Amino acid sequence: MTHPCALAVPAVRSLAPYVPGKPISELERELGLADIVKLASNENPLGPSPRAQAAATRALAEVGQYPDGSAHALRHALARRLDLDPACLTIGNGSNDVLVLLAEAFLGPGLEAVYSQYCFAVYPIAVQATGAHGVVVPAHAADHAMPLGHDLDAMRRAITPRTRLVFVANPNNPTGTWARADAVQAFVASVPRDVLVVLDEAYLEYSRGEGVQDAARWLARYPNLVVVRTFSKAYGLAGLRIGYAASHAEVADALNRVRQPFNASHVALAAAEAALGDEEHLARSVQLALDGRRALSNGLAALGIRALPSAGNFLLAYVGEGAAALDAFLLRAGLIVRPVANYGLGEYLRVSTGLPAQHARLLEAVRRWRDSRG
Ligand SMILES: *Cc1c(COP(=O)(O)O)cnc(C)c1O
Repeated sequence: MTHPCALAVPAVRSLAPYVPGKPISELERELGLADIVKLASNENPLGPSPRAQAAATRALAEVGQYPDGSAHALRHALARRLDLDPACLTIGNGSNDVLVLLAEAFLGPGLEAVYSQYCFAVYPIAVQATGAHGVVVPAHAADHAMPLGHDLDAMRRAITPRTRLVFVANPNNPTGTWARADAVQAFVASVPRDVLVVLDEAYLEYSRGEGVQDAARWLARYPNLVVVRTFSKAYGLAGLRIGYAASHAEVADALNRVRQPFNASHVALAAAEAALGDEEHLARSVQLALDGRRALSNGLAALGIRALPSAGNFLLAYVGEGAAALDAFLLRAGLIVRPVANYGLGEYLRVSTGLPAQHARLLEAVRRWRDSRG
């Protein structure tokens, strides 16, 4: 028998796996260090709302039974919040799940999906695994007003009769770049109606001050729009895995055909519904991230490291050729940030906003690294 991996279908053999942020427990094992700070996965340093935690604890007593596979309660809570029909909502095991469902339902060999250079790494994985072709559109140049951001005009021009999906993250990860509501809406309006625009709003909550708008309100006008959201970031529920798509009901119907019957856990469904009800925790989390974004950006700039403009809870910092060395130095100091060489951004590091004391520790370590290089 040949090497077993060679038996995987060609589209899978050629995939580059997703590279996650290093877990704290892994660095603890490697270094024997305690007190590690992780600013690598854009998590909420406050964690979830206490109400979500209480709901999750209550739900744990019921996990002997299957969850509600239709996610009735969460879909109805979201429908009220977004002023949509519950039939327009698809719940996922994280929004990653929803992105994969979109690819499974609408792509296959001979078809194409369009995304930007430096887009979220899950898009190419989800697309290529179906045997479809991923069309990568060059991002804006580093000296553009929105450096390394999506070039929406070029993305529109990359659409062909074979295109079924266009992925736009707004704001984008790992760059932090964004497009204002009028530009996004003009883009959606310009895309042919038989091509779905997947608008990933994982960082929407952090971007309203930058003119980004909740695109779910445009759904009635654009039946080919799919808005994807997550509870992993501002809602602090990354470890429970829960997200959703808001779309035309017929798109939701297609997603529902490929969705695993119990893709979202009982605990996650309960926690997400409770998290939606705690607007104060959300507001506090967002304010912390916005203050942190400014403080971290200024702190890094004072050390000679400039960050791209960001509308997320993270910064893409330009370090130059020392980026990998700085990353290794920070790890030895018990600080986990995100190397992004796998995105073709080997001279950058992505840093999530955290608590002020965590920023202070990071900036102090960067200062020591800089001083050690003379
Ligand atoms: C973090 C992130 C997600 C959310 O992933 P989950 O699977 O919901 O945890 C989706 N899109 C982008 C661009 C992200 O950065």
